[in-house]
Amino acid sequence: MFKNFKNIDKVVFGRGSFSMLESILEEKRHENGKFFLYVIDNFFKGKDLEKHIPAKPGDIVRFIDVDPHEPTTDQIDQLRDEVLRDYGLPAGVIGIGGGSIMDIAKAVSLMFTNEGSSTLYQGLNLIKKPGIYHLGIPTISGTGAEVSMTAVLTGPEKKLGLKCEWTIFNQVILDSELTATVPVDKWLYTGMDTYIHCIESEMGTLNNAYSHAYAEQALKLCREIYLGDKAGQTPENDDKLMVASMMGGLSLTYSEVGVCHALSYGLSKILGEKHCYANCIAFQHLEDYYGEGVRELKQMLVQHNVTLPTGLSKSWTNEQITAMAHVAYNLPHMWNHAIGPDWKEKVTIASIEELYRRM
Ligand code: NAD
Ligand code: ZN
Repeated sequence: MFKNFKNIDKVVFGRGSFSMLESILEEKRHENGKFFLYVIDNFFKGKDLEKHIPAKPGDIVRFIDVDPHEPTTDQIDQLRDEVLRDYGLPAGVIGIGGGSIMDIAKAVSLMFTNEGSSTLYQGLNLIKKPGIYHLGIPTISGTGAEVSMTAVLTGPEKKLGLKCEWTIFNQVILDSELTATVPVDKWLYTGMDTYIHCIESEMGTLNNAYSHAYAEQALKLCREIYLGDKAGQTPENDDKLMVASMMGGLSLTYSEVGVCHALSYGLSKILGEKHCYANCIAFQHLEDYYGEGVRELKQMLVQHNVTLPTGLSKSWTNEQITAMAHVAYNLPHMWNHAIGPDWKEKVTIASIEELYRRM
């Protein structure tokens, strides 16, 4: 009944701290094949950051376009197979990007040492051996993927993480200067992932003093960042959001997400919607569960002129709605937290379908 959690081994925080990367890597370079694999969000190709990547001859630098879809099991298996075949086992993996890149770096680090397809390891503690050294540098704040013990992958069967203590990064560099270029809509959607993590963490049976302390502080930061006179994409707020994202993730290590994330997984799995956007789409209709939170999130959207579509369900087929409801229903840990151990008496496929029809 008690969770025994591992944290990130080392964390650097501060504007400009990206410059620490080279010296941090030097002490790891002698391991395995003595080269590093960089996985970097394609957004940075040709941008200033590219010039500052401390890659040495022999290192592999891969720019990945994360927009077509969320990370998949196929994508991870292919990357692992290619690198092992053509270069051997890297000394480590460095991920520079958003939640998608964080998850790709974490997952591929594990798959370098665990045989077969990553589909075999989707779930809790299914990974057999520790992965290789992995270091994360988030460039958009909100998912908490930089701190969490899961690497979420979409496979042929399910959208589910490789979840174990070896998933957690060995090192994270939190340099909020890297988030300055995030466009306002993505700044809001991804930031709202933190906000929703905290609301859901708090509003459920697993909430406790530990998860509450992190969620409360992260919510306070979100309010400063998105509401009131000092709201907006300022350097000070970029710092705060980076910390809030981490604290939202830490809150979840001792609690759980809830109804919104269950519905969001359905939207991602069946319709391919991106996680943070899907959360916002679902959350706006969950007054019955998270009334005050829903009102506040809507206020944040209004303040920054970001609108969410409504009436989407009109274009969905009954089959799609039923399929999404099944995906959501099959996340019992979320319902158990949000509704309680007797959730099956209160939540049915039909009642979840009704929630999707509101969207
Ligand atoms: P993302 O990584 O998909 O990136 C979103 C967009 O922002 C992309 O277009 C990307 O190119 C762009 N971007 C990133 N940094 C930028 C920058 N500095 N300037 C301009 N554009 C930038 O988005 P995300 O919302 O951070 O992550 C979503 C993914 O995270 C999903 O795959 C989801 O499943 C996963 N996730 C994982 C966890 C976890 O604990 N592992 C938690 C929540 C979500
Ligand atoms: Zn989330």
